[in-house]
Amino acid sequence: MCTHPAGKGTGHLGYGSCEVHGGLWPQNEDAWRQAMELAKIEGIGPTEALLKLVTASMGRAAYMDLVLEAALARHVADGGDPLIPPATMRPWLKESRQERMVAGRMAKAAVDAGVMEALGRRLDMEGGLVADALTAALDALELEPAQRMKALGAAQERLLSAE
Ligand SMILES: [Zn+2]
Repeated sequence: MCTHPAGKGTGHLGYGSCEVHGGLWPQNEDAWRQAMELAKIEGIGPTEALLKLVTASMGRAAYMDLVLEAALARHVADGGDPLIPPATMRPWLKESRQERMVAGRMAKAAVDAGVMEALGRRLDMEGGLVADALTAALDALELEPAQRMKALGAAQERLLSAE
């Protein structure tokens, strides 16, 4: 376990990982910068703001998937090949991929920040959110199925021991 104060030597002192445990990674600095901004605007804590960003980003990605599904269904109904999506879908496919990456990075920052442990106490309430965040983080890592199972197992163990 790290003995440094949270966020030591980073731009997010008081929150998240310290300088030697990933706190300085650009994706973490960036996620926390956005979380701090949102926290100030909404008068909430930075950790809560970070989680809000994760959910918002995943919500946008889910919305884009919905649009894509509908577009593909229309394309197929009009006699199109489901394996050759129409050109009009291309920008949405790109957006969806980017949004998932953003969500993944946010979720990863949340995991690094120990938000999972903080949530452990409220797991009954937030269990679904944690699962979603974890899935997004794993998606972003593009793991092999076996590695993914291992990562999930480790996360589960950590979550259970955080109670
Ligand atoms: Zn540390």
